[in-house]
Amino acid sequence: MTLKHYLKQQLQAQDPSLYRQRRTHANPQQIEQTLNGQPLINFCSNDYLGLANNSTVKQALQQGVESYGVGAGAAHLISGHQQPHHALEKMLAQVCKREQALLFSTGYMANIGVLSALLQRGDAVFMDKLNHASLIDAVQLSPAKRQRYRHGDMQQLEEQLARSDAKHKLIVSDGVFSMDGDMADIAVLQQLAKRYDAWLMIDDAHGFGVLGSEGQGSIAAQGLPSDSVDIYMATLGKALGTFGAFVAGDNALIDWLVQRARSYIYTTASPAALAKATQVSLDLMQHSDKRARLADNIAYFRAQVPTSWQLLPSDSAIQALIVKDSQKALDLSAALYQRGFWVTAIRPPTVPQHTARLRITLSAAHKKKQIKHLIETIQQLLG
Ligand SMILES: *Cc1c(COP(=O)(O)O)cnc(C)c1O
Repeated sequence: MTLKHYLKQQLQAQDPSLYRQRRTHANPQQIEQTLNGQPLINFCSNDYLGLANNSTVKQALQQGVESYGVGAGAAHLISGHQQPHHALEKMLAQVCKREQALLFSTGYMANIGVLSALLQRGDAVFMDKLNHASLIDAVQLSPAKRQRYRHGDMQQLEEQLARSDAKHKLIVSDGVFSMDGDMADIAVLQQLAKRYDAWLMIDDAHGFGVLGSEGQGSIAAQGLPSDSVDIYMATLGKALGTFGAFVAGDNALIDWLVQRARSYIYTTASPAALAKATQVSLDLMQHSDKRARLADNIAYFRAQVPTSWQLLPSDSAIQALIVKDSQKALDLSAALYQRGFWVTAIRPPTVPQHTARLRITLSAAHKKKQIKHLIETIQQLLG
């Protein structure tokens, strides 16, 4: 069978309600978009602070290009590690109150790099069933054994840890779960890690820049000291509005990753200009009113939603309305789009069977009347 024939067959065999399509748009990443001259309000971006199209951040990128050019030209360990990368790592370590931070090109690569650098045959990884796909792939690429516990089920995790005879144990969890919006109980994870001599890693892609008194993320939001986890990973393409990711921890961890994280070593460094832009967005994240505005919008949204909605519990910018059926989720999303609201339907296998949902994300840049209008429109569509 030719490849083309095979793929056509596979595509035809797929459930049409799970078919994935991209929507092309010609706007910058911002809340207020236009589609054929009609306004379209974006409620599905991860640009939680509205920094992706911020003029100060854009200027920093432009100036960065003037000073450092476009491409980094080589990997960090060859000749690609430029002063802005280094300065950004220092800033990130400071924000996270850790000894050091290491920049990665993407969060996906950071997760793959960390797990491949730390784990060997005979080791085991324990992860929440709702962890991000990049963490699942990272374990699959590592020689360690994978054990998954039911979402938030600390008792099952404890049973798995108690039974394990792995040489090294690593517990990995999303800080804020990307499709649900709730938080991992990091205090309990830390206790279990201590009790069973395991290491702890938190992927805080959706917590960093959003939660905590200074935007340091889920750990601070739960009142815990920054060194409660061994490995803190977060991304820069979400709340920070730019691109990339980092891992923060003690000197030994970062030193080891520089030696062994393959997705760090064998890839071209991201542009230095991008690091310049991220320095500015990091400063805006910490010192502007954007986080406060976002928190205000989250509280407003939750207060306005009718009690009849099956809304998952969440204090984060991610608000999931469960509609169960994939086709229904698609239909709702399409109807909202026609009415000027961009909300993607999230379906299996991104989420478990029968939990298709509208994943509504809030931003500091939303106006209250836009949020109110969205809720009213969804309510009408739900009938
Ligand atoms: C988005 C995301 C990633 C991947 O980060 P990228 O920089 O987009 O590759 C990793 N983990 C979680 C929890 C995410 O939501």
